[in-house]
Order: sequence, then structure tokens, then C-alpha cells
Amino acid sequence: MFLDKFNLDNKVALITGGSRGIGLSIAHALGEAGAKLVLTSRSDSHGATEELKKANYDVSFYEGDLIDRSVPQKIVDFTLEKHDRIDILVNNSGVAQHGDTEKFNDDLLDKIMDLNVDAVFRMCRSAIPAMKKQGEGVILNIGSISGLVSNIPQPQTAYNASKAAVHMMTKSLASDYANQNIRVNAIAPGYVRTEMTNLPKENEHWYPTWNELTPMKRMGEPHEIASAALFLCSPASSYVTGEVLVVDGGYTSR
Ligand code: NAP
Repeated sequence: MFLDKFNLDNKVALITGGSRGIGLSIAHALGEAGAKLVLTSRSDSHGATEELKKANYDVSFYEGDLIDRSVPQKIVDFTLEKHDRIDILVNNSGVAQHGDTEKFNDDLLDKIMDLNVDAVFRMCRSAIPAMKKQGEGVILNIGSISGLVSNIPQPQTAYNASKAAVHMMTKSLASDYANQNIRVNAIAPGYVRTEMTNLPKENEHWYPTWNELTPMKRMGEPHEIASAALFLCSPASSYVTGEVLVVDGGYTSR
């Protein structure tokens, strides 16, 4: 009975940034649970679609840049044309950029806010009407511990602020749409081994600081975020909404 609650047979899951890293791992988790997958990012150059098809999942890919204001609605339209519904929306695409605030130029600031905040808002705005029509839906936003605490040693005020916005958007949407049977949650990962945290040589000295500050003394793996995503996207979490679930090896416990 309890394992059945993780079953996503016939559910349609739209995952932004599904081409690699955490998003691709979430696609594996939801696909294994039975969901039909629609992935999107600027390119499928890492072979995500092929990898997921080999695992026998129903998968399609929409190539688009979420910074373009018109793209979120196009991704939703593509999904509805293909499957006629959207049960699960995972807003995972994101970009991290460090730098001292006094030297942080407008282009960088715009890039972070446009993708990490505005695109998440637009994806939700575009997907919610379909979910309302269906009478149910689940949204999962990928926030960060950087939206809860100020990470060190890297200065990244804009990124931190963008992820705090994601957490607040999650709570606001959860409150606004609970009466439509739409649940909205977030995951706040700690440091996870992906391209995003693959540091150039000159910043490699950050790793010991990150691990030292993490009680479990290591970085997380994408699949450790994906397991939490499966819980939040499935009926196993049917009474959970407005939650920011921290998955960080204990980093924010201190
Ligand atoms: P990643 O490996 O760099 O993956 C980022 C994903 O976002 C890729 O699929 C990328 O695909 C997509 N993306 C980037 N720019 C895009 C754009 N303009 N339009 C559409 N898609 C775009 O990073 P990750 O670590 O898996 O990060 C996934 C999420 O987790 C992000 O929101 C990140 O902030 C969050 N997070 C990560 C960590 C960590 O330690 N790794 C910690 C906390 C939170 P394309 O390049 O093909 O577009």
C-alpha cells in the first residue's frame, strides 16, 4: 500500500533543465515510477533523451532558452499537444554565478534573476491553468540552501537572493492554489556534484570548506536529490504543500 503511493503511472512530468545533473536524475526517478517525461533545456547535447529512452521511459525533449519570455508558454503548449495534460512540473533549470557585489554587472544579475526567478514564475503561470482544468497538479521547485543561509567562501549574493525568492514563490503558490488541489513544494539542496559545482582550478580550494561545513563531510549526489523529488512529486506526499525540504548532509543544521 505504501509503495503504491510512489507510483506515477500515466502521469505526465515536465522537467526544466532535465538535460543533465539534478534534473536528469529527477527524470530517471519519475520515469522509473512510471511518469511520461517531457524535458527541456537549451540543448540535449549530453544525450539525456537517448539515455532515458534506453531505460524504456516515454520521453520527449523541447529545446528552448527559458530566459526568453515566450519560451515557458511554448514548453507548456508542447507538453499539452503531446500528452493533453501536465501532472507534474519540476522547475529545476538554474544558473549559479559568484562574484563580489560591487563588481557584479547587470548582465550577470539579469541572467540569474531571469532564469532562477522569472522563468520559474512564468512556467508556473503557464502550467497552472492545465492543472486547474485537470483538478490536480504538483509543482516542485528546486531552490537551494543558498536561499536559507549565506554560503562561504564564495560571494554570491544575487544567487542567494534568487533562491530565497524561489522558496517564497513556493509558499505563496502553495497557499493560493491548495483549494485547486495543486500542491507546490521546493527542495533546497546543499552542495551536489554536478557541472554547476565542477570548479575551475583557481577555486578548487572551496571544496574543503564546503565539506568541512557539512556534517556528513561530503557533497551530495544528484540521485540523493531525485529521491526527495520522487516523494514530493508523488501521492506519498499528498498532505505536504508549501514545504522547502532541505537535502544537505546537515549543512544548515549548524
Ligand atoms: P547543472 O548541471 O548546471 O544543470 C543546469 C540545468 O539547467 C541544465 O539542464 C541546463 O541545460 C539548464 N539550463 C541552464 N540555463 C538554462 C536556460 N537559459 N534555459 C533553460 N535551461 C537552462 O546544475 P545542477 O547542479 O543540476 O542544478 C540544477 C538546479 O539545482 C539549479 O536550479 C541549481 O541552482 C540547483 N542547485 C544546485 C546545487 C548544486 O550543488 N549542484 C545546489 C543547490 C541548488 P542547458 O545548459 O542545456 O540549457
